[in-house]
Amino acid sequence: MTAEVIVDIAHSEVDKIFEYRAADGVFAGSRVRVPFGGRVVDGFVMRLKEGSDYDYSKLKDILSVVDDVPALNAECLELVEKISARYHCPKALVLRLFLPGEMRKGRVRELYKNVAVFKGEAEISARAKAQAAALSFMKEAGRADYTELCGKFGRGAVAELVKKGALALEKERVNRLPYAKLAAEAPERALTAAQKSAIGKIRASDKTVQLLHGVTGSGKTEIYLSLIADTLREGKSAIFLVPEIALTPQMFKQLRARFGESAAILHSGLSAGERFDEWWRLRTGDAKIAIGARSAVFAPVENVGVIVMDEEHDQSYVSESSPRYRTEEIARLRAEYNGCKLVLGSATPSVETYLRAKEGEYGLMELPERINARPMPEMIIADMRREVRRGNNTPFSSALREELAECLEKGKQAIIFINRRGFAQSVICRECGYVAKCESCDVSLTYHSEEDCLKCHYCGAQYHMLSACPECGSVHLSYTGTGTQKVVGELKKLYPSARILRMDNDTTSGKEGHYKILKAFAGREADILVGTQMVAKGHDFPAVTLVGILDADMSLHFSDYRSGERTFQLVTQVSGRSGRAEEKGKVVLQTYDPENYILRFAAENDYKGFFEHEISLRKATAFPPFAKIVRVMVTAEDDKRALETLREVWFSLKELYESEQEEFLFFNKMRAPVKRIQNRYRYQVLMRLKSDKLLPEIYGRSVPRSSREVLVYVEEDPGNLS
Ligand code: ADP
Ligand code: ZN
Ligand code: ZN
Repeated sequence: MTAEVIVDIAHSEVDKIFEYRAADGVFAGSRVRVPFGGRVVDGFVMRLKEGSDYDYSKLKDILSVVDDVPALNAECLELVEKISARYHCPKALVLRLFLPGEMRKGRVRELYKNVAVFKGEAEISARAKAQAAALSFMKEAGRADYTELCGKFGRGAVAELVKKGALALEKERVNRLPYAKLAAEAPERALTAAQKSAIGKIRASDKTVQLLHGVTGSGKTEIYLSLIADTLREGKSAIFLVPEIALTPQMFKQLRARFGESAAILHSGLSAGERFDEWWRLRTGDAKIAIGARSAVFAPVENVGVIVMDEEHDQSYVSESSPRYRTEEIARLRAEYNGCKLVLGSATPSVETYLRAKEGEYGLMELPERINARPMPEMIIADMRREVRRGNNTPFSSALREELAECLEKGKQAIIFINRRGFAQSVICRECGYVAKCESCDVSLTYHSEEDCLKCHYCGAQYHMLSACPECGSVHLSYTGTGTQKVVGELKKLYPSARILRMDNDTTSGKEGHYKILKAFAGREADILVGTQMVAKGHDFPAVTLVGILDADMSLHFSDYRSGERTFQLVTQVSGRSGRAEEKGKVVLQTYDPENYILRFAAENDYKGFFEHEISLRKATAFPPFAKIVRVMVTAEDDKRALETLREVWFSLKELYESEQEEFLFFNKMRAPVKRIQNRYRYQVLMRLKSDKLLPEIYGRSVPRSSREVLVYVEEDPGNLS
């Protein structure tokens, strides 16, 4: 047999099939060791065939097969081909998505323990009490951990029984189970009528992709769990995707409770050994449910019965390193391959997704009410301009201070959310709410401190810094928001006896960093939780009756065409943490722009109103989903080399532009707004296109120009144009 092998070297020049002679025990999908260019490297068998296009007798032999079970199944092999073609990415790089990193280069091994197995009776002298006791114990138990057995009866006695043939020693595979200690009660609830009807509609629909649009607290999780339970009953497996690690332990706890060891978790916060074992449990079918963030979409499960993508609108579903895949695209490919449903869930679907559902491409289920008709929280909009004018220089409005005092008095919990993201900041007038915008693009300008100027990320225009507000003349301009630490400090001054927890990038390092903070808060070890985006999502804290959103409009002014959508999502998500149990919740939304339509829709919980407004705006301005923004990035440590490659890319793309001009709404090359990141100079060709028709051409004309020194990659509708 001949094996077609991709060697595990991620370089475009070696990214082709090499043929080797394969002995028995080599399968499609096997990881193998092969001789390559004078050394021995790992590779993957993509296909087996009879004979060879070359001289079979001259082919080299596969040296060894790494795993007993081929690491990749047929579906994964097909996906590798598709992903590699779609993103013009070397197959060796795509293959790496499918395996836990530790598996490469053999850095982790299976873990074994010794077990003793009962084999039969033996003659034991009357004086050997320990031997007799051990034997009768083993006769009962049949099998026991060797170390424990020695601990009980003594190593000598056990050794003697082995010598007599009464016991045999064997090796047994041990699985390192993450979150094993999380096992909790598993209340399988009776589904509400709304939940049942949604499930019925999903099952009956003939569409592959199903959008479950349900307000926060409408019981979407229960629907996912129920769909997964049905799938397991049919003997199939499931993939459950959640946006971020911060969420995973909570969700996983529920899954462990409900499905026991059938659930396996895959995420970067696990130890190498745990990840390796969980992955193999899925590969061998010991575990049937793969749960994890974005990368779990590559889980090695077979015969998939349902794929769930919770919080489908979340940014973290787009990969930020090559291949820059969209999780939804991969999940959809898998759903089509397996003939199963892909269920997208969100309280605030992305406008792209909702449009598809409205136009009938996706199935659409709506849950407009919370479980048991619990009320949505009451929203109070606090005008921060007025607070500043009144001389209030704390981060808190008087409304928020009053509500906080009342909440603490009642012994309830509060969440204070700080709306900050990334390093890019816009300029806002704290007295009138004016925001600096690009004259030609109508997106907010971003302040670049190194050059002390304002830039538009969509057209490259530069503006002088402002010293006073052009609208009202005030010098109270703000370039940065307030940090978590400062907020905690102010809170301590105002409420000296309150117990406060902080959750941000600084406090959540470590393997279970997020989980520890969330657990402490859930366990009522604190009264107030202060945090950034991480506190916004998915958490269910029944005692929280107040949410304060500081600077609700900060995210409105990120220089991103989606900043309105992002803000609506954030405000809705974080508000959804309030009043989830019996007591009605409140939300105080602080803003410098109280008339803003995005905040109005969010305050009224009007997703549809928001959607209609946003979609007509996108249509009028020709932004996605009515256009495609494509950025080709060229980066290198050597500025000259980067520029040279940019010119080549530009020249080739210009040909395309000239022959297909009617497809282009914008086409230009420039330095990236942030000129240099991690020692690499950055250039870009920025395009806005009417459709994605030219995408394959754009990839084909740019990505192959990557070299050892210069990286060329394509971003589609990038979330960040810095
Ligand atoms: P969502 O994911 O839509 O925000 P959750 O699934 O977290 O909502 O559910 C909100 C709350 O309602 C949770 O506390 C959950 O335990 C509870 N819940 C969900 N389904 C039911 C049900 N069928 N009966 C009773 N309580 C439920
Ligand atoms: Zn002003
Ligand atoms: Zn502009």
